[in-house]
Amino acid sequence: MGACLAGLLLVPVPAAAQPLIVLDPGHGGDKPGAKNADEKTESSIVLSIGKLLKAELEKNGMRVMLTRDHEVHPALTARAHMANEIAADAFVSIHANWSPVPARRGAETYILSADASDEEAASLLELEEAGEVGTEEDVAAEGPSGDVEAILADLRLADTHRESARLARTIQDELATVVTLSPSRGLRQAPFLVLRRARVPAVLVELGYLSHVEQGRSLAEKSTQKQTARALARALVRYVSARRG
Ligand SMILES: [Zn+2]
Repeated sequence: MGACLAGLLLVPVPAAAQPLIVLDPGHGGDKPGAKNADEKTESSIVLSIGKLLKAELEKNGMRVMLTRDHEVHPALTARAHMANEIAADAFVSIHANWSPVPARRGAETYILSADASDEEAASLLELEEAGEVGTEEDVAAEGPSGDVEAILADLRLADTHRESARLARTIQDELATVVTLSPSRGLRQAPFLVLRRARVPAVLVELGYLSHVEQGRSLAEKSTQKQTARALARALVRYVSARRG
């Protein structure tokens, strides 16, 4: 009887109505990414935040797929394809930054563009994709070098690109509430491979600088990771709610 009552009280949300988010903790396996002053890797930090964020989003009724849930390294193109294949509402690649300038700190979120928006974005692109681009398969799939402009000019994708920008702004807005990740470095643009391959709203977030001693240590702490996951969850809930009206 009790089970029946419980069954009556639960109103399951139809699967199709549940927003579907793909989270992509960057790097992994033999590609640890950047390191903080204590040698904690970007790979382990963003994986931890990705898992916390998944739990937060599921609490909010979303379905979530992680491109990796342990220390492996899926190909960058495969990560974006996961989001495309299931027509995700959003694809969020999660990273932490690094700079030779020790004082540099703050969070920034990237969307796709044909060119890096400035020199910092260009060097970040090199850092993030060191040894990752230029396989024969990528070159074959990519076509001529002007392809990113063709992607952006495609009317079917223009709306997706606008949505990516709205998602990026919402993420920056919410990350600004996490004091240890300050200052907000805003919305930026670069031709990251994971973004080039995505056909759904897609962003790449750099949560803060591991090269900044204080910020890098904070990102490795559970309390900051939980705060960050909650901020990203708020952003995704806001983004999806506005899109679905
Ligand atoms: Zn990274």
